[in-house]
Amino acid sequence: MDLKFDASLADFRTMIRDAIKQDLPREIQERTRLFGGANSSDPHDSLAWMKILSKRGWTVPHWPEIYGGKNWSPLQLFIFQEELYKAYAPDTCWGGTHMVGPIIYTFGSEAQKEQFLPAIRNGDYYWAQGFSEPGSGSDLASLRTAAVRKGDKYIVNGQKIWTSCAYMSEWGFFLVRTDPEVKPQRGISFLLINMKSPGITIRRIPQINEEAELCEVFLDDVEVPAEQLVGEEGQGWSYAKFLLDHERTTSSFIYFNKRELDRAKMIATEETLDGVPLILHPNFQGRIARLEAEISALEGSVMRLLANEEFKYNETAVASILKVSGSKLQQALTELHVDLIGPKAIRHYASESVDRDPYDPWPDHIPGRTSQALILRASTIYGGSLQVQKNIIAKLAFGL
Ligand SMILES: Cc1cc2nc3c(=O)[nH]c(=O)nc-3n(C[C@H](O)[C@H](O)[C@H](O)COP(=O)(O)OP(=O)(O)OC[C@H]3O[C@@H](n4cnc5c(N)ncnc54)[C@H](O)[C@@H]3O)c2cc1C
Repeated sequence: MDLKFDASLADFRTMIRDAIKQDLPREIQERTRLFGGANSSDPHDSLAWMKILSKRGWTVPHWPEIYGGKNWSPLQLFIFQEELYKAYAPDTCWGGTHMVGPIIYTFGSEAQKEQFLPAIRNGDYYWAQGFSEPGSGSDLASLRTAAVRKGDKYIVNGQKIWTSCAYMSEWGFFLVRTDPEVKPQRGISFLLINMKSPGITIRRIPQINEEAELCEVFLDDVEVPAEQLVGEEGQGWSYAKFLLDHERTTSSFIYFNKRELDRAKMIATEETLDGVPLILHPNFQGRIARLEAEISALEGSVMRLLANEEFKYNETAVASILKVSGSKLQQALTELHVDLIGPKAIRHYASESVDRDPYDPWPDHIPGRTSQALILRASTIYGGSLQVQKNIIAKLAFGL
């Protein structure tokens, strides 16, 4: 396997880096640097940044060219994402660009493509993912939110939970039960629902890091035009699985992990114990070295995928392996940040302003670290919990 980036890729990297430097507003960059978790930059910043990126046509480079993609190679896409993360650029609205967008251009009607793809590309609004329900998270196939066809409409009743950013989303993509009589997976359909529809009530859930991005969404007799069904009725489960396999390498959070390792080294150089930088302390040295080795191994796996080397296991198992390693590394790295700043971790929560208090005695690398470590406790839950991923690996990779 040849992992070298050739000269043309080096030029590509320089071009991307220069463009980001030129385009990324300082305030947005600063907010993302301080408070952005993985996939959790400020959603307003995400939309503002998409507007800027869309001028270069760079919001959905991974899409097919016909829908506005850039036809970049997998390695170019890797470099693009890596540079965005390094520069502390916000994520795009992931629900649109990486989830519902590919579903719409693959399975949606021409009218849906026309209505939604340009808006997703331009970052016109945020999308919510309405999959999980109370009692139906890991066991998603048991979901109960019901959509009953009445003429040219579906009438939707039920409740979703943990719906990220639902309160500020204009549209949502929902898994709903259209047929309670068949095998659970067969009775699920994929509906696009306008979040301002009468009958939708949204309640924000306070989080441990003092934010409230997660929501409960209640649907009471919500009328959804039948043309907002994506693909075929009863095929929602296979579309949701397509989502999972579609973005295999992003589940490794590799860009985030590489960046946060650099941040750990920086903090360890600045913070001292008895006048000696923590990076020279054997305990921290060992932790950093171990994490660096694990991140290199993870990057190697991602590169093998990108180089199209045959993996021994099937794709779903690979996505799960990357998710398990990537999410555990996120937690180990952000816990390391907190340990490095020691007692100073006790304050500085997400709600603090990026404008620093001029009398704040603590250095610039302190704000946001506690908040980030706390919210990333969830990274081994969302997108498929750690234990469930391990079950998948056991079954698909080892036949257990
Ligand atoms: C920050 C965050 C953002 C989220 N955003 C969204 C969103 O935008 N849209 C959305 O639809 N959902 C979202 N979710 C929900 C997420 O997908 C679910 O939390 C996740 O699938 C787990 O489901 P659950 O919470 O019901 O836990 P459960 O499924 O009840 O699991 C509870 C515990 O039991 C374990 N467990 C469950 N089944 C098994 C098993 N078979 N074997 C072994 N252990 C098992 C789990 O690993 C976990 O430790 C989000 C969650 C979080 C934390």
